Amino acid sequence: MGLRIVMLGAPGAGKGTQAKQMAEKYALPHISTGDIFRAHLREGTPLGLQVKGYLDSGQLIPDQLTCAIVADRTAKPDCKNGYILDGFPRSLPQAEEFQRLLHTRSENVDLAINIDVTDTEIVGRLTARRSCPKCGAIYNLKFKPPKKNNTCDLDGETLIQRQDDKEETVRDRLKVYHEITEPIIEYYDRQGVLKTVPGTGSTPDAVFKKIEDLVSAAGAS
Ligand code: AMP
Ligand code: ZN
Repeated sequence: MGLRIVMLGAPGAGKGTQAKQMAEKYALPHISTGDIFRAHLREGTPLGLQVKGYLDSGQLIPDQLTCAIVADRTAKPDCKNGYILDGFPRSLPQAEEFQRLLHTRSENVDLAINIDVTDTEIVGRLTARRSCPKCGAIYNLKFKPPKKNNTCDLDGETLIQRQDDKEETVRDRLKVYHEITEPIIEYYDRQGVLKTVPGTGSTPDAVFKKIEDLVSAAGAS
């Protein structure tokens, strides 16, 4: 039993926004590997130091390390009814390793939701993104600007543009996405759990409505 959902799509397609809203509606934990890595980086843990170079340059963190973190997180008691994975798996080996792990637990991915957005829109969205270095809150100068110019609504800290949201890094991340991550769309399609939602030119609310339909069809209410 349970509902295990994987969110797919390029960086900036809106996986995180949708995953957060779904987590609330379906009372499932939202597991973002990017958030987990960034939290370690902020707190200066040994893992944070280990992954800093990858995060700054938009490169993928090695599969073994990433899979170990997900295995650990999804074994926590709050995951017993399922979870929403955001940013994992990110490569075919990760998807296969995760499948093996689920198999040992007699579990499956129930739904893989692919939010499909063009590269042009991705570049526009991501380069408009700003983050709070203190609490990690994310803003977007186009879609979700802070109330006060360049200042975090929650703690008044001056917002920054993350290194991985600078245009050059965004282009690198898209290249990595197409080469390494995109093949897993077909992987989940072959398993019969893939659903694609068009994201270009859609508001987050419109995308969420489509996702709600998919989730209820997959068995949640
Ligand atoms: P995200 O916030 O999902 O865009 O992730 C930010 C960064 O964290 C990525 O650019 C990678 O460096 C790293 N990362 C997050 N998830 C993964 C993953 N599943 N595999 C490898 N690296 C990851
Ligand atoms: Zn803040």
